[in-house]
Amino acid sequence: MNELYVPDTCTNAEDGVNRRGPLRVRDGVNRMGSMTPQARGTAVLCLLCASSLSSVAVGKSSCARQGVEIQVLGSGGPEMTDQRASSSYLVWRDARARVLVDIGGGAALRFGESGARMEDLDAFLFTHLHVDHTADLPALLKSSYFGERKRPLPVYGPAGNVAFPATTEFVADLFDPSHGAFRYLGDFLRGSDDGYQLRARDVRPAPGEIRKVFAADGIVISAASVAHGTVPALAWRVEVDTKAIVFSGDTNGEDPVLKRLAKNADVFVAHNAVPEGTTGAPRALHMPPSVIAQIASSAAVKQLVLSHRMLRTLGREDETRRVIAASYSGPLVFADDLDCFR
Ligand SMILES: [Zn+2]
Repeated sequence: MNELYVPDTCTNAEDGVNRRGPLRVRDGVNRMGSMTPQARGTAVLCLLCASSLSSVAVGKSSCARQGVEIQVLGSGGPEMTDQRASSSYLVWRDARARVLVDIGGGAALRFGESGARMEDLDAFLFTHLHVDHTADLPALLKSSYFGERKRPLPVYGPAGNVAFPATTEFVADLFDPSHGAFRYLGDFLRGSDDGYQLRARDVRPAPGEIRKVFAADGIVISAASVAHGTVPALAWRVEVDTKAIVFSGDTNGEDPVLKRLAKNADVFVAHNAVPEGTTGAPRALHMPPSVIAQIASSAAVKQLVLSHRMLRTLGREDETRRVIAASYSGPLVFADDLDCFR
């Protein structure tokens, strides 16, 4: 992928208003579509300034479709004004996408843009059932109706509580043939001769437990319960051959099991939802950069990728980088949609 990341000294809005988001340029075309002459002029300036800031892109790699790599489908949180899809990730082995983690709003489109095929997925994982991690499930499923998948697709996610349904209940609420909101897609739960069956599974690791839920064909998937307010939430470790990728999901980072889950990971994808110094409810739900850094450091992860970027953290990358460097010395990269990491 030929792209440049331009920090917020450049505007990415056609009306000239700086909204703190990144301008992403692929082959000279902003993915937002046509641009006004003023915007084009700004873009040229941005390209010029970006060319002198190539270090911004250090650590990112184009998608090779060889070996094991993680691709970010959605690098944002719930906000749409950040011009990012909401949380979603693919783990690729060679030219096949094998594991999908979350599918927030906008991520179904990114799934198509990535070239991934539902036929190749071995497992689908939910970190939790907030909208920004689940909303595009119906869109993705309907899209796959036109594909060739026949084998069942396991969907693993958290068990429920008073406030949230279990993953099995969530999937049934969407697709159950008798009462689901999208009951017309009920064949995905029944399984049919010309389609495939979605098989939801609730995962409830005990506190401190790392629970293996899947092992086949060199792919091992494990989960741990993490703290995200009252929301049942899981962090995931996906091992493919000799590579290990760990997804924190949304969490305040307080549960020590996350350090063990992330131990020696090749890539640790952590959610940069709040800046340093955040207090109150946002801090109760999310980990600030200093906590991310402590986990990355004590787990000795080989690469730290910050995703789930939000308006409150976008534009504060330099500050975040400084805070993290105080306790984690490995490579740190800020994720954008469709980036690949190895
Ligand atoms: Zn989230």
